[in-house]
Order: sequence, then C-alpha cells, then structure tokens
Amino acid sequence: MAVLADPLRLVIGDKAAKRLGSALDLHTVGDLLSYYPRRYDKRGELTDLASLREGEYVTVQAEVASVSVRKMRNRPGSIFEAVVTDGRGRLTLTFFGHGRQTWRETELSPGVRGLFSGQVSSFQGKRQLTHPEYELLGAGQAGARAAEFAAELIPVYRASAQVPSWKIADSVRIALDVLDVPDDPLPPQLRHRHGLRGFADALRGIHRPVDEADMFRSRARLKWDEAFALQVLLAQRRLAAASYSAIARPPVGDGLLAAFDATLPFELTVGQQLAGATIADDLAREHPMHRLLQGEVGSGKTVIALRAMLQVVDAAGQAVLLAPTEVLAQQHFRSISSLLGPLAMAGQLGGAEHATRLTLLTGSLGAAARRKALLDAASGEAGIVIGTHALLEDRVQFADLGLVVIDEQHRFGVEQRDALRDKAGDGRPHMLVMTATPIPRTVAMTVFGDLDVSTLTELPAGRSPIATHVVPVAERPHYLARTWERIREEVGAGRQAYVVCPRIGGDGPPDAEDASADAEDDGGQGPARPPVAVLDLADELVAGPLAGLRLGILHGRLPAEEKEKVMLAFADGLVDVLVTTTVIEVGVDVPNAVVMVIMDADRFGVSQLHQLRGRVGRGSHPGLCLLVTEAPEAAPARERLDAVASTLDGFALSRIDLVQRREGDVLGTAQAGRKSSLRLLRLLDDEDLIGQAREEATALVAADPALADAPGLAAAVRELIDVERSSFLEKA
Ligand code: ADP
Ligand code: MG
Repeated sequence: MAVLADPLRLVIGDKAAKRLGSALDLHTVGDLLSYYPRRYDKRGELTDLASLREGEYVTVQAEVASVSVRKMRNRPGSIFEAVVTDGRGRLTLTFFGHGRQTWRETELSPGVRGLFSGQVSSFQGKRQLTHPEYELLGAGQAGARAAEFAAELIPVYRASAQVPSWKIADSVRIALDVLDVPDDPLPPQLRHRHGLRGFADALRGIHRPVDEADMFRSRARLKWDEAFALQVLLAQRRLAAASYSAIARPPVGDGLLAAFDATLPFELTVGQQLAGATIADDLAREHPMHRLLQGEVGSGKTVIALRAMLQVVDAAGQAVLLAPTEVLAQQHFRSISSLLGPLAMAGQLGGAEHATRLTLLTGSLGAAARRKALLDAASGEAGIVIGTHALLEDRVQFADLGLVVIDEQHRFGVEQRDALRDKAGDGRPHMLVMTATPIPRTVAMTVFGDLDVSTLTELPAGRSPIATHVVPVAERPHYLARTWERIREEVGAGRQAYVVCPRIGGDGPPDAEDASADAEDDGGQGPARPPVAVLDLADELVAGPLAGLRLGILHGRLPAEEKEKVMLAFADGLVDVLVTTTVIEVGVDVPNAVVMVIMDADRFGVSQLHQLRGRVGRGSHPGLCLLVTEAPEAAPARERLDAVASTLDGFALSRIDLVQRREGDVLGTAQAGRKSSLRLLRLLDDEDLIGQAREEATALVAADPALADAPGLAAAVRELIDVERSSFLEKA
C-alpha cells in the first residue's frame, strides 16, 4: 500500500517514475493523482482534427482511412503511412522503417480506431504525426487497457513526447489500486451540507469515471478541496492578524482632519464617504487594519488615504505613504502639500494651528536633505512621510508609526509590507493598500484573502470620458500620420499629449520599464522589429510630424532630478508632448493633457493599457487614447486592444486579463503554472463556490484554529503553503 507522500518509484517502478519525473515533474503519488485529465474523450467520438495546431503535442481518437508503404528516395528503407480521419479532416501518421522488417503498424488497417499521440508537424502542406505512439480501441483488445477503454469516457492527460496520455493513465490506475485511503481533507459535516462525495471516490472518479455524472461529481468535490484549503489558510492568517495589537487611533472632533474637511473644495462621493467611514472605524480599533482600497484611476483614493493619515496624526501617530516610483512619490508630495496647504506647514510662517509636517524621503535626496528627513521621521516632527523603497531601509525610524499606506499593491511584495510593519515598535501599524488595478471579487478573496476590501465604483462627477481607438497601421498605414495631426490640433488648442513607447532605446541596458510581456502569445505574429523606443521616436517626431512642438523625454534611465524637471515642465505646460515609457503609468496628474498615443500597444497588458489611459481626460476636456498597433486584425493581440477600446470598465478588463492568463496556462505555454494549487478551480466561474468555501473556512478556523480535529485538512494546508511560492498566487 502507498500514501500520497510516497515517491512514485515505490509504486510504478524506477523507469516509469523517472519518466514522469523528468517529463512532467511528477514525483510523488500525490503529484500524480492530482495531475488530472485535461479532457475526456467519449468512446467512439472522434477528435476534431481541424482543431490541431502545429507544434502541439496531441492525443487524438481517429479512424484509419487508408495505408500505404513506399520506398525512401535517397536511402534504403521505406515509409509506412496511415491516413486517419475524424470523418472530415485528415491526418497522416508516418513511420520510417528499415529493410524488410515486419511492421507492427500492419495492425493499422482501414476501419480500425485508435488513440494516436505525437507532435503535430507539417510536411508538404499536410499535417502529420511522425512515429506516433498509439493504442487501438476496439473489440478484441487484450491486456490491461481493455477495461479502461471499455469505459464510456477515456481520460486524456496532458502528455509529453516521452510519456503518452495512456501511459499516464496506466500509472494512475496502479497508484489508485494501491493507495491507502488518506484522511479526507473535507470534514464530514461540510461534505454533508454541500452534498460532496468522499475524497477517495473523487480521486477515482476524476481519473477513471464510469460515466459523465461520475466525473462531474468528482470534479465538483475536488474543486472544493482547492477552494477550501486556500480559504482555511487565509482564515488562519486573518485570525493571526487579528490577534496582533495595534494602537487605536480614533477620530477627534477638532483636529487636522476636521480642518482639512472644512477646506476641501469638493464633496466626497458616496463611495468615498463609505470607504472613509469604514477606514475611520478600522483605525479606531486595537487591532491592525489590513485593508485594500481599490478604485479606478481618478476615483479619488488619495483623498481617502490622506484623510486616514490625518486621523492618525490627530491621534498622535505618524503615517507613511509608500509609492512605487520616485516620480510618483514626488507627485504625491506636491499634491498632498497643496491639498493640505497651511495644515502641513508646522513651524513655518503661515502654518495653521494644529499643523503637521510633510516629509519626502526618496533615494535621490542629497545628504543634507536626507539627514533632515530621517531626523523628522525619527523625532516625530513629520506627521506624514512620503517616499519610495528608501523608506524600507533599516536606518529609517519613526517615533510612533501608526499607519502605512501603500500605493499600488502589485509593485510591492509581502516582505516589503512586513519590513514597514516592523518599524512600528509596539504592536503593528494599520495598513491601507491602494490599487487602481481592479480585481474581480473572487480574485480579491483568493489572492488578497487576508485583506479586507473597499471598492470605489464611481468617478467624481464632472469627469470627462475617455474615447479609445485602435490605430491599425498594418491595414491602414496613413492612420499614423492622422494620429500625429491629431496631436498637433490639440496642442494648437493649448492642450498637451503623451506618446508612450514600450522601450527606452539608445545604447543603455534593457530597463525594467521595457514592456516585454504579453507579446509572446501572438503566436509569432508580433512585430519582428524591436518595439518602438522613446529615444528613436522622439528624434523622428522632432524631425518630422511634430516639428516645431516642444517635446519632452521621460524614462527610467534619466537621473531623478532630470525626471523631476521634465515632469514639472510638462505639468507647468512648458512641454507640449511628453514622449515617455510607462514611468508615467500610475498617479501622474496633468489635467491639461488630453491625448495619449500608445505605440506598439499590443506589447502592453490589458490592465496596464487601462491604467495608462487614465492619465488623460482628468480635466474638463474629454480624453482621447489611441492604441497604435501592427498586429493583424484577427490576432489575439488585436482582440485585446479592441476590448480595451470597447469599455472603460476596469473590472471587465481585469477579467479579460485573468481569462487570458488562464488560457496561456491551458495552451501549455506557461509550464510554470502547472504546479499551481488551482487546478480545477476557475476564479471567475466558481465565484459562488469560493464564497461558500470562505464562509465554511472562517467558521471552522474560528472553532479549531490549529485544525487539530481535521488532520486531512491540516495536511492539505501544509501542502498548500509548500507550493504557494511557485504558484498562481504569486503570479497573479
Ligand atoms: P486616484 O488616486 O484614485 O487615482 P485621486 O485621489 O488622485 O484619484 O483623485 C483624482 C483627482 O480627483 C484629484 O485631483 C482629486 O483632488 C480629485 N477628487 C478626488 N475626489 C473628488 C471628488 N469627490 N470630487 C471632485 N474631485 C475629486
Ligand atoms: Mg492615485
């Protein structure tokens, strides 16, 4: 007998185990048994041959239509060919033989059906499999697999050149036969409540289903395993977090926050009021807040964060705002300085009564400014410190850090969150994470499941809409000239524009901003030339279509002061057109900039494009975003761009992003995703299940935090922690 943790060789022998290990990265009985079939073929139902893609490793069920043998032209030996069909399309199976050997392939006579497995290639315009592995299906098949193929459903595994699907099925059968039934990870009452079958039945039923109902029941049950283990882990983390203490920072009636609200030049939206009230309550508790605040670009998150920071300062604490880039930190510093006005001018002429001090701390500060900033933070003089990664360094200390606000979660890892958390002396600081990349609810529940979530769903009134168009230069080259004219028109009317490129160019090393993502899934249809670069394009524009306009150049390789100078010049209207990389992606706010042209837009991800265009249409003039691409009309890249052009709904777009990533997995391009802890669960489709699992998990963990009464579950959660690093969780 065997347990899930046993190495495979104990069960299927050295040779087979080695093959599964090297070809599919399966090493234990548990690895193999959670390698679920990618699909099931109905017995007798032939595979649609038209769906095969060249280069793919496939297993098809087909019928032999004709066979032939011919001599090789230039060498001794002969070629045996069998043409198989699904009733419409055809596929050639090619076997090379030597001399007068007897063909095992003579079994392949017209009318015989079988499973054929190999890599699709193309020869003289015909698709073929060279030396495919095969298994015949049909009456009179002897041996171990006869029973397998008598079943209605044939499991088809994602196979490899070394291990065809049915060899995997063979190993699975052996493993199932000797498996010591493990403790069921799902507690019996829970199974009962949700009508779920036992673990052992489900394992058998997903690999060797008797019929479709058997298979569906098994999948439904095993989906629960995935959702539940994850939610239990997250519930444990939430519980642990709730056991930490924090200093309560309840609001006071007559402090900075009240003074700030009195000067606010606009009404908060309903969403802002609700999120603000929730956060105010969180801060008043003696446990650290862990909240994700999400909302479209321009939905007014910064104001909410600022109000939270002021509440903490009123309660004698300090707050930190951590930005992902220098440019953004500086921009936050400027905009918050101007929002606070005299309220941030403690000790200065004109400072208000309760005033605090705002301090900027970034990597590029000169020695003296830096010393001053560190001193302000450590002494508590600075109520609000704004900065970049420099804030994470050891020598940065605070007198009483009460709140950490992180702008743009996706650029900071968990370790960085923790580094800041550790600066808070006794207890932990409250934590607010802001993101403009909207996250579907279920993803928030899974990926950020240890954070509470507030969402701003509306933009402040009076925002101008952004129109987005795809500029397909492959089909309509003259549209590009029209694009530059459009910029000239706007500049002529006193407004400004961005031109965003995926690459910096010049002789420097490749930069982190260089967009490389998402280009790979074009199936080779992407541009063969390198992506458009800021430095090259700026030269061309100055010399040609935008001659006479004032161009600025911005990218991550510029020294910080230079970046700052360019941004300021653009903000002050001294630059008409900013040619830039994605350094301007988040947060940058120049209301007079109304046009954004994105070059090689297919190089960017859907959510990223959505973020980028949020830079325009921030003032009273409507924004225009032009997505320039050479991708041909039917390419997946074009569909993505059309999706971005068709909606301003960031949530819908983030779903598209997610679906595409998932497809990448399914198509086998992202092998790394295979070890993911999410095999059956679909974050978008299984929303209800995930919600139920979350409720069940919360209740169970409350009653039995260490899972003492649920050993099977405890094992599943331990396993999950092991794979977490390499899993979907981190990539998402
Ligand atoms: P986000 O950080 O969510 O992208 P910001 O907080 O930067 O958005 O807000 C964008 C702009 O809208 C800022 O200039 C801000 O002052 C302004 N703003 C925020 N809330 C409101 C509101 N309720 N009504 C009008 N303008 C607002
Ligand atoms: Mg912002």
